[in-house]
Amino acid sequence: MNSQVFGRVSIEGIQVIALSRNGGTSASPYNSLNLASYVGDDPKCVSANLDLVKAMVSAEGISIMNAEHGNRVHVVNESGIAPHGDGLVTKSPGLALVALAADCVPFGLIDPVNRVVAVGHAGWRGVLANVVQTLLDEFVATGAQLAHTQAVIGPAICAKCYEVPAERVEQFREVCPAAVSSSTHLDLSAGVKSVLASQVTQIHEFDGCTFENEDLFSYRRAAGDPTGRGGLVIAIGAS
Ligand SMILES: [Zn+2]
Repeated sequence: MNSQVFGRVSIEGIQVIALSRNGGTSASPYNSLNLASYVGDDPKCVSANLDLVKAMVSAEGISIMNAEHGNRVHVVNESGIAPHGDGLVTKSPGLALVALAADCVPFGLIDPVNRVVAVGHAGWRGVLANVVQTLLDEFVATGAQLAHTQAVIGPAICAKCYEVPAERVEQFREVCPAAVSSSTHLDLSAGVKSVLASQVTQIHEFDGCTFENEDLFSYRRAAGDPTGRGGLVIAIGAS
């Protein structure tokens, strides 16, 4: 697979792309479509990759999530690295939103009627902190209506590959039982989906395990070595 696109959906002029790690400009170990400026990659390569992603969704600007594994979310209207947080919301046509991830779950919200979009990032800390609901709340506060809202869940590490300490599974049994796959494994995508499912009208899933699929960035597969970040991009058409 050489395509930069791992999965794509278009909803009434709103483009959603789950990115692969292919077709960018970064050298190993960030090869090649790394979008994160904080992992040690050459800033010129990151900038060139962001330009590629902007072109893919015909955007004029791009707002990049600055994830912190919490539940802060921000409304953004400008290009650049966003304030620390794990969710971004915009109504600005032509401004692409990017959720970075490499095993965590990137997810998106699209209201094609009120023209509001959002992206989020949920690792285990984010799921426990309910970043999904926090982002849904801010999305509605910004003018979206859940009766018109579709969601997207990008590729993440699958339950089979995501072994965690038993005490963490116990935390999830109390807070988000839908994410518990076994006494030692978590399904974070199922946890994210469980919050979205009762609230949005449709969920598009880009199935694929970041750990198993070498077309995707995986923090766990890198096993302590540096690696890049891919994720999910959403943009309202500038027309
Ligand atoms: Zn897997």
